[in-house]
Amino acid sequence: MALGLGEGWSVKSCSFEGTPPELLLKLDFKAGHRFACPECGSCGPTHDTVVKRWRHLDFFQYRCELEARVPRVDCPEHGVRLINVPWGRAGSGFTLLFEALVMMVCREMPMAAASELLAEHDTRLWRVVAHYVEQAQAKRDWSELKRVLIDETSSRKGHRYVTNFVDAQTRELLFMVEGHGAESIAAFAQELTRHNARAEQIELLSMDMKPAFIAAAATFFPKAEVVFDHFHIMQMAGKALDEVRKELMRDGADLKGALWSIRGNEWTRSSTQQQQRRLLSQSYPKLGKALGLRDLLQDILAQEDKELLAWWCQRARRSRLAPFVRLSRSILRHWSGVVAFMRTRVTNGAMEAINGLLQLAKRLARGYRSIRTFRIMAYLKAGKLQLEVPSFRPLPTH
Ligand SMILES: [Zn+2]
Repeated sequence: MALGLGEGWSVKSCSFEGTPPELLLKLDFKAGHRFACPECGSCGPTHDTVVKRWRHLDFFQYRCELEARVPRVDCPEHGVRLINVPWGRAGSGFTLLFEALVMMVCREMPMAAASELLAEHDTRLWRVVAHYVEQAQAKRDWSELKRVLIDETSSRKGHRYVTNFVDAQTRELLFMVEGHGAESIAAFAQELTRHNARAEQIELLSMDMKPAFIAAAATFFPKAEVVFDHFHIMQMAGKALDEVRKELMRDGADLKGALWSIRGNEWTRSSTQQQQRRLLSQSYPKLGKALGLRDLLQDILAQEDKELLAWWCQRARRSRLAPFVRLSRSILRHWSGVVAFMRTRVTNGAMEAINGLLQLAKRLARGYRSIRTFRIMAYLKAGKLQLEVPSFRPLPTH
């Protein structure tokens, strides 16, 4: 009853075997029971049997395995086929309930630890995780998708980039693809067709000002408005500020330790850092000017005022700080996308949460850093997938 064997099957024997002892349950089917062809479901005569084994949930402290002669039916249409057993997937060496346990464990701990806990080779566990994640991923329906956030992240330290696509509304990771150029955008457009969606339904793409992304967005998503959100713009402003700092250091300024006090927003710094920031601005007017421009830009982006932004660009252009002159040019060149952000307020803010989950996914897949394993763990952690894993149902009552 607990095994949920279903009609036609029963436990024939039950014994402890081997050292350390394992519980072995031998199953058999009732003589004369007609099984269904896995292809068409029509019942046919049993042709022959094949002995198979599945690891099941442990029986107290003992490892437990099921063994059964599995019939092959002779279907007039499909020929001789191995039937599907109710307790396990075709081709899996685990029962469905054991696979459910694998999924629970692998969701929460690194693969190496899961492998040790379950005393199973990691490649067998990966196969289970990959099956359920890829099955759920393939069934995702994106017919309601309208707004997409695009961001890139490294799959390893410093090299091998992947591009991530996130639903701006549900904040689910939709798709991860290798590379971070136009081909990534093209791959996403292609992927949409596999999920009941079309490129034309995408109204908005939020991304950074990368020429390859911008060109690909225009080609593959002609109906989508491209938005450059304040996270990316402030990232660029932060870089401009850092370039000013480095230039000053090259000219002999003593800015050691200044890095942390000038990075980020003033209110996130400690009072000592804030004081250091003021002192530095006094001693190095160029740095003070750069800090002022950055903070001003932050304030302007928080409001929906394009006049102010235009004014800022003019001010930055006249600042005689080359990195800020360049930044103001970039903003002007991508004006409509920046203004679109101010209007729609769609930001890549959700990406921060997703990136946290991706870091976790990387840790869970540690030591198995192929793009595929990273992607599987990323979908599992950040994709909000509907996994078709059996639940631990209560016993039927009779
Ligand atoms: Zn058939």
